[in-house]
Amino acid sequence: MAKKFICDGMLGKLCKLLRICGIDTLYSNKGMTILLEARKENRIVLTRNSHLRDKEDIFFIRTSNPAIQLKNVVAHYDLQNDIQPFSRCIICNCGLESVSKESVREKVPYFTYQNFDEFALCPDCGKVYWKGSHYKNMLKEMENILR
Ligand SMILES: [Zn+2]
Repeated sequence: MAKKFICDGMLGKLCKLLRICGIDTLYSNKGMTILLEARKENRIVLTRNSHLRDKEDIFFIRTSNPAIQLKNVVAHYDLQNDIQPFSRCIICNCGLESVSKESVREKVPYFTYQNFDEFALCPDCGKVYWKGSHYKNMLKEMENILR
């Protein structure tokens, strides 16, 4: 089964990067309740809090650099083969659904509708994703980080 994570309040950027990679990741900024949230859904806690460092199912993040954080987590949990860019909503972590071009016509800018054919929708927040230049830049950033 694919590994799932929960990031503490200091790891918002890492949380976003993991979602971009398609890794199931929650964000929790409510202090120690992160441990309960993690246990409830069998999630691995990613934290900068050194008080938690020796507990089970917790990965203590040493660096404040999000790119290196991502690299460390991917290496430690062997996630290379689980990475599926843009399969998950960056805002709410929900899995994206492929949708037809026609169905997003009213939801995206005209230029985008004219120039792209592949779209995905977050069933939770309704955000529409497409593989435009933003997508390509992010993909490149990921490749650079994880190389
Ligand atoms: Zn969403």
